[in-house]
Amino acid sequence: MHIYDYIIIGSGLTGLTIAQRLSTETTNVLVLESLDDIGGLNRPVTFADQHINNGLRFFPATESGLKALDNLENQLGLKLVKSVSENNPETYEASGYKSFVGFGNHAPEFYDQFSYFLSAKQVELHLQPWQWVQLLKEKFQGTLLTKSFVTKLGFENLEAKNPNLTHVVVNGNKTYHGHNFIFTAPIKELTYILPDEIMNIRLKSKINKSTSWQAVCVDLFHPQETEMKENLFVLNGTTDDDLGPCIGKFITKDMSQWLSFIDHELAEETENVGLVLKKIKRQIKRAFPEVSEKIQKERIFVSSSISGAELKLSANLTYPHVENLWIGSATTNTSPNLLGSLQTAQLILASLGFDPQMAYVEKTDVAEKITQEASI
Ligand SMILES: Cc1cc2nc3c(=O)[nH]c(=O)nc-3n(C[C@H](O)[C@H](O)[C@H](O)COP(=O)(O)OP(=O)(O)OC[C@H]3O[C@@H](n4cnc5c(N)ncnc54)[C@H](O)[C@@H]3O)c2cc1C
Repeated sequence: MHIYDYIIIGSGLTGLTIAQRLSTETTNVLVLESLDDIGGLNRPVTFADQHINNGLRFFPATESGLKALDNLENQLGLKLVKSVSENNPETYEASGYKSFVGFGNHAPEFYDQFSYFLSAKQVELHLQPWQWVQLLKEKFQGTLLTKSFVTKLGFENLEAKNPNLTHVVVNGNKTYHGHNFIFTAPIKELTYILPDEIMNIRLKSKINKSTSWQAVCVDLFHPQETEMKENLFVLNGTTDDDLGPCIGKFITKDMSQWLSFIDHELAEETENVGLVLKKIKRQIKRAFPEVSEKIQKERIFVSSSISGAELKLSANLTYPHVENLWIGSATTNTSPNLLGSLQTAQLILASLGFDPQMAYVEKTDVAEKITQEASI
């Protein structure tokens, strides 16, 4: 029977950051991904003949954000940060465009998701998050299996004080054994794959009931647009309903990406998702009528939950009383976003005894070359 040193569940940014770093020390690492491709929320999509991020992406230039990116740069040996710039979001009112200063007394319920985009400074990137995950996959030296949905975590000594996780079951029928397990899928998945002896029914129910937000995204291709508007836009519309504002950016002069959020329970009704989409489009039409008239292609999608339940972990990020199960869902970090993914990955690596910073490497400047190649 083969026993892997590390089994990583999920090949998103968190899982691949951990997996690639671990595989520099041992190739006996297995990554299991449920979908037919890697990348999770950051997998690339093709829109209007270009690879783009799967929805709007923003990276705040905070001290911790820059530190996490510096670690990733060392890991990839590439420069990711192009520059740091001011972030001055704008909004639109009857009188025209003006600086966005806040929502006053009408902050949306998902303000925490939005506030991330309002950071005073932002990182301009050489390489986009969809490229980070591709590069991590290329550099990973272990085994990666797609279409491998982990359906159960199997234990030895379930009744003991510190039970030992020994294997995972994939697609209901295939078993993989390991010494150490790192779970990086959304936290709610744990309620289905952990036995009740490990996660009791009350905790499962609490996690399943907690609010989590899904992003409703619209990508637009409007090739007649000539004036490039650089800032982020927060559009709030005029109607006082509870659907909330949307946020967006012109990625190039002929493409823009927009998003808003919806509670995952409401998202179960397609009608509710339709209302959010309608509102996003109404707001874009109001602020940018010239864009609305010239849309040639649009891409609409609703993400899986990008925020959610809290779970109390041990200090070293393992599941309580299970010393060989690390929980790396970005949703357990206070920032359920790119920064949260990188920080969580780096904390788990440190807990596993790996220096997440790695030795400083001379970063090559091929980033721009890759960007050019990728957009061909
Ligand atoms: C539209 C959108 C816009 C966003 N914008 C921003 C932004 O501007 N700035 C920012 O910082 N963050 C943003 N985020 C959030 C950010 O992308 C995510 O928080 C982060 O990338 C999550 O990475 P992850 O690896 O933790 O999780 P994921 O990317 O969700 O990866 C988890 C992986 O696990 C797999 N998986 C799930 N269950 C199983 C299972 N049982 N067995 C095997 N595999 C499984 C999934 O298929 C997936 O590949 C955005 C997200 C979306 C969707």
